[in-house]
Amino acid sequence: VKAFDVEKIRKDFPILNREVNGYPLVYLDNAATAQTPVQVMDAIVDYYSNYNANIHRGVHSLSQEATDKYEQARIKIQKHFNAEKAHEIIFTSGTTHGINMVASGFASLLKEGDEILVSALEHHSNIVPWQMLCEKTGAILKVIPMNQNGELIYSELEKLLGDRTRVVFLNHVSNALGTVNPIKKIIDAAHEFGAAVLIDGAQAAPHIKADVQELDVDFYVVSAHKMCGPTGVGMLYGKEEWLEKLPPYQGGGEMIATVSFEKTTYAGLPHKFEAGTPNICGGIAFGAALDYMNAIGFDAIAEYEHGLLEYATAKLKEIEGMKIYGEASEKTAVISFNVEGLHPYDIGTLVDKMGIAVRTGHHCAQPVMEFYKIPGTVRASFAFYNTTEEVDRFIEAVKKAVMMLQ
Ligand code: PMP
Repeated sequence: VKAFDVEKIRKDFPILNREVNGYPLVYLDNAATAQTPVQVMDAIVDYYSNYNANIHRGVHSLSQEATDKYEQARIKIQKHFNAEKAHEIIFTSGTTHGINMVASGFASLLKEGDEILVSALEHHSNIVPWQMLCEKTGAILKVIPMNQNGELIYSELEKLLGDRTRVVFLNHVSNALGTVNPIKKIIDAAHEFGAAVLIDGAQAAPHIKADVQELDVDFYVVSAHKMCGPTGVGMLYGKEEWLEKLPPYQGGGEMIATVSFEKTTYAGLPHKFEAGTPNICGGIAFGAALDYMNAIGFDAIAEYEHGLLEYATAKLKEIEGMKIYGEASEKTAVISFNVEGLHPYDIGTLVDKMGIAVRTGHHCAQPVMEFYKIPGTVRASFAFYNTTEEVDRFIEAVKKAVMMLQ
């Protein structure tokens, strides 16, 4: 593990110096979006200052430079996730976009009565597109249930898998609870029935370096903004054979080989899925974000964050009436909680008055809230630039809020 110097790291994030409501900001909403280091901002400024041009089109030098940088970013993403081929990496606008691309593509491959398995832990963006697909095709959606710890019940999954299972999709890490799902085991089990597996890596990507070849996963999707990149850009990894099989998601420029009014032929991968002018600067900045995080090292990040998680969990449990949801044996640095008799929104609002940013609500995972029979939780999610002192300030603020509300 590389030495971890959090004070040095914090200098890369100017936003961490600001005040909120008269207090130094403590940003604990990293699962919603992570903050941006100057190295990524520099890449954005460099793009617009020096080589802003449309890609894959012009013969002029600027266009060539922009194209080269954009394609270099694709290769950085390929290397990071260890995809076999660069054209298996499709730039998207984010996780939601990637999932919709795959789900809508499956419309042409599914028949009535085919089965799709989803986990009980999903974000709405990994539920709704598949429900829309079921409406279109007559396929049936089945749910892998969870237990009180916020873990999927593997024995139930084994019962649900069958000859009609075509697609299994679940997140690598739950955004509502932080549970790390045993995706390798699930991928292998699904493959025995010939089902494709899509993993929503939105919450895993900032903490765990996924190796798509080792996982043997069919599709893996992420958003750059959860991993120190900008919003509005992400990645869909798809195995070449699957991306070849799926029809394009959108028609337009960039995605064609030839167009006439009688017939259009599509471009090869990855362009088939990249219609229109993409978020060029965003893609390049995504690459810069991966460089930044890899320089720190994912093992070091995970170990440090785990320390924060354990410390914060123990401290929170000292508060009377504290209920933490989802104490899975393996989780990322996310704590979802309520205090007996209090509404999460009230706690969130009061701690914000003390400069602490947490998320409150259902976290776009209403089925998880329904499972616990609660309207929502307070969610604190930690990043590698958070400190033990910040955890202390967070705990003090929660204690104060509880006192004020009771
Ligand atoms: N899946 C999970 C597990 C998420 O946490 C999120 C973001 N909260 C998404 C999907 C959607 O990501 P985006 O809004 O960037 O498309």
